[in-house]
Amino acid sequence: MHSPMDTPAKPLPPDSALSRPYWEAARRGHFVVQRCARCGQLRHYPRLLCSACHSNEVEWTELSGRGRVHSWTITHHAFHPAFRGELPLALVTVDLEEGVRALGTWRRGPLAIGLPVQARFEVQGERADLEFLPRP
Ligand SMILES: [Zn+2]
Repeated sequence: MHSPMDTPAKPLPPDSALSRPYWEAARRGHFVVQRCARCGQLRHYPRLLCSACHSNEVEWTELSGRGRVHSWTITHHAFHPAFRGELPLALVTVDLEEGVRALGTWRRGPLAIGLPVQARFEVQGERADLEFLPRP
């Protein structure tokens, strides 16, 4: 048994120039992804080069956050002790309407392939965790 006093803080994402715009927007509640400035292809997670045209020219664009469940997994093992109190934890993979896929948490009941969902960020200090909620 452990108490909240024993639980370490959740880790922060590594600070890198590549992903900084994503995290800065996420902390303000905005879901942004990279868009190739040459061919327009969206990509998530942030990467240095476009997989379609290999350009490193990039801009950022905000997504609607709307999508449908592609798959999920239920994790019963905490890979960091800060998450022990949240187990079992559902991690859901969502196909977003704009054509990229994202991973987030799910805490809202039964899941189904194709279930309509909406993204939001749960912001706590410097952390911004992507979670998905059911969408009517
Ligand atoms: Zn491109």
